[in-house]
Amino acid sequence: MDFELKPATRYERKLFYKEEWSVNDVPDFITDSITTREFGFDHNGQGPNDRYKTFNGQLHLKRFIKSKQPFASYVSVAYYDKPSKREGWQKAELVFDVDAKDIPIRTCECGEGDVCDVCLNQAKEIVLKIRDVLRGDLGLKDINLVYSGRGYHVRVLDEDVMDATSNMRADIVQYVLAAKVPDLSNVLGYNNLQHFIIPFGYPKVFTSWSKYSILHLTEKNKLDNVNAKLLKDTIKHRKLLEKDQWGLFRNKIGPIRYKRLIEAVSKVNMNIADTKVSIDLKRILRLPSTLHSKVSMKSTLIKNIETFDPFDDAVPKFVYERK
Ligand SMILES: [Zn+2]
Repeated sequence: MDFELKPATRYERKLFYKEEWSVNDVPDFITDSITTREFGFDHNGQGPNDRYKTFNGQLHLKRFIKSKQPFASYVSVAYYDKPSKREGWQKAELVFDVDAKDIPIRTCECGEGDVCDVCLNQAKEIVLKIRDVLRGDLGLKDINLVYSGRGYHVRVLDEDVMDATSNMRADIVQYVLAAKVPDLSNVLGYNNLQHFIIPFGYPKVFTSWSKYSILHLTEKNKLDNVNAKLLKDTIKHRKLLEKDQWGLFRNKIGPIRYKRLIEAVSKVNMNIADTKVSIDLKRILRLPSTLHSKVSMKSTLIKNIETFDPFDDAVPKFVYERK
């Protein structure tokens, strides 16, 4: 990456909305339900204070955004009978919010609140893992991936999950992110014959996330009940996990410390996405196609995640014209 993630000026925002932004870039899954959604806007960088906005169609939304050129634009995950009052809640998308600056196992040198190509790439890996569990384990199909400007949103619109309560969403999140140690003795090397056991279902999800988390730990991480020595030993022996040799890894660490480590790792797994967002039935999320003015990037609906690169696909034209 050869440019800075710096804020957009008032003039750059104006250029963007005048010359580059098109209402046609707002995803269909939003325009199809535009009249039932609440919109929110931040006009001056102080937060989304202009809420309860509604639009009767694409043209209406286009006129508003073209004339206001907002600092930030948001749309509700919820559908309402009366979105202008946030009344008559009908259903809401199921969302996973992976913000690169909040990943607990970042391996980059970013300071607090910053993002770089390394942690943004990690956010993408995480999103792919979330998508695979949603598809493979939960059989969900209507999964939309959005680049948010500093991370990714997974937005699920399958009818099966859209009417789920907060509690049901919390259970789904716990499964998808592997937030709980499975109550089974034959996973993660509890059985010394681990090589012959292929975990499936939740234990498989748990094994996969825990492997990812452990492989990305750094000595900077602070884990519950894991002291510096245990963290160091974990990092020293984790190469074994690249070949899924959990039994050998457990032997190196020792069974009691291993149990402590795995408990702590389950909490790391849970914090990989912002779970508050997933259980909030009335959340507003950044509107895809609009500008993230703090970093001068475009929130973008992703057509092909494998080839998506935010530094190619989510950079507004004005950034290239900066001196
Ligand atoms: Zn970073």
